[in-house]
Amino acid sequence: MTSYAVEPMAVPAVTIADTDDMFPVRRIYCVGRNYAEHAREMGSDPDRDPPFFFMKPNNTIIPDNADFPYPPKTENVHYEMELVVAIGKGGKNIPQEQADDHIFGYACGLDMTRRDLQISMREKGRPWEVGKAFDASAPCAEIQPASKIGHPSAGVIWLKVNGETKQNADISDLIWNVPETIEYLSGLFELQPGDLIYTGTPAGVGPIVSGDDMEGYIEGVGTIHIKVV
Ligand code: MN
Repeated sequence: MTSYAVEPMAVPAVTIADTDDMFPVRRIYCVGRNYAEHAREMGSDPDRDPPFFFMKPNNTIIPDNADFPYPPKTENVHYEMELVVAIGKGGKNIPQEQADDHIFGYACGLDMTRRDLQISMREKGRPWEVGKAFDASAPCAEIQPASKIGHPSAGVIWLKVNGETKQNADISDLIWNVPETIEYLSGLFELQPGDLIYTGTPAGVGPIVSGDDMEGYIEGVGTIHIKVV
């Protein structure tokens, strides 16, 4: 048995609906600018340039109904409500026609973002980690298995802050849909069971402050509820 010099971290995991089994999280991939209206609000032209990706560490996950601690070194933290895909079967160069076979399930997630740091890094051509990959930056609600809900390709996605609707779109508006995203991503990285893909956020992103209550919904998938503290 391996002896470790420091305590090894526990495997980060997300609950799965209607079972005591947990979904162990390996990598968190995120798609940038994947809804046209959001690309425009971020100052980009939403043509079908190939999708681009960034990652968050797996231990940035926090569960549904958790408190989100307002992070340091920022004055502009944004919510980004997203459909999350959980990979159950790995592979590389997965054709979009076979993508569904690799999906374990779906969840509601938030890609929390220190927007001021992300934009200043972007302007300097520097990496995005300080803006995107901070502690607790990846709230993820319980996973609904595809064996139960199928593979949603359309349905409303919304986010409310303190009961007020901030984002309201349809997952059919994704520039790169889920099978296309899996085909592209698996050409860059070999996907493995336990990977999560945050598929991008619709328009309407904006700031939160301590005390705010975030509630998200995706038709056919479920809800997420996170309080900012
Ligand atoms: Mn995002």
